[in-house]
Amino acid sequence: MTGFMAGKRGLVMGVANDHSIAWGIAKTLADHGAELAFTYQGDAFGKRVKPLADSIGANLLLPCDVEDVESVDQVFATLKEAWGSIDFLVHAVAFSDKNELKGRYADTTRENFVRTMVISCFSFTEIAKRAAALMTKGGSMVTLTYGGSNRVMPNYNVMGIAKAALESSVRYLAMDFGLDDVRVNAISAGPVRTLAGAGVSDARLMFNFQKRNSPLGRTVTLEEIGGTALYLLSDLSTGVTGEVHFVDSGYSIVAMPRLDELKT
Ligand code: NAD
Repeated sequence: MTGFMAGKRGLVMGVANDHSIAWGIAKTLADHGAELAFTYQGDAFGKRVKPLADSIGANLLLPCDVEDVESVDQVFATLKEAWGSIDFLVHAVAFSDKNELKGRYADTTRENFVRTMVISCFSFTEIAKRAAALMTKGGSMVTLTYGGSNRVMPNYNVMGIAKAALESSVRYLAMDFGLDDVRVNAISAGPVRTLAGAGVSDARLMFNFQKRNSPLGRTVTLEEIGGTALYLLSDLSTGVTGEVHFVDSGYSIVAMPRLDELKT
């Protein structure tokens, strides 16, 4: 079935390349008739994002570094001029110094703590406020989180704290915008091999562990995350807001590995 996004326009932030979760979501939305605008962080990523945007007929491609609030403002000024209003937002932006995505959380520096929180958490609040102002006919937004927010994952460290704050932001923003018929949700994805994912030390070990020990016994695909984003961003989910929805092959429900696994 296609066409769930017919007539809807929105912004996708966080495509770095064709392995990005944001790209998996964008492709699914485009397959269902959405018209998309993209942001990219710096010229090097811009060169990679351009052919992807071209492949789905998207011609609004805007530079944006969320550490630079003027570039954020410029994105929304351009969208307002080009489209007047938007229907959805995808925020798939995160960063932390990879030297601190290993070892102990206790050793996180003040500088990296603040930078991680600003890019990976506060940027969603700052962007959501601007996006909601353009959702004049109602709308829906989604951000990306990870189960390291409420359970301890090796090496995820300060990113886990940022994701916990991001998930809490989702709930507060859902309340702030709810009466304007603007919905705010998060997808908590299982591990995916991406640039950001590779920044976490021993990412491959964590990937394989979660693959073996999730109920479904595998990791998730970009298409599966895209399908959930489609549900949350379309009119299929008009009664859903403030949710953190796991797309992780069920890993979040597991308290300990299957006993067979422990015997090998
Ligand atoms: P990715 O590297 O493809 O995407 C991360 C994006 O963040 C990139 O496009 C990068 O340009 C952008 N970004 C970083 N700093 C920025 C800044 N200052 N300004 C603007 N953009 C900036 O990796 P991904 O795994 O697709 O990450 C997307 C989201 O999914 C992130 O929030 C990540 O935490 C989350 N996530 C990833 C996984 C995983 O295993 N890969 C699992 C769950 C959640």
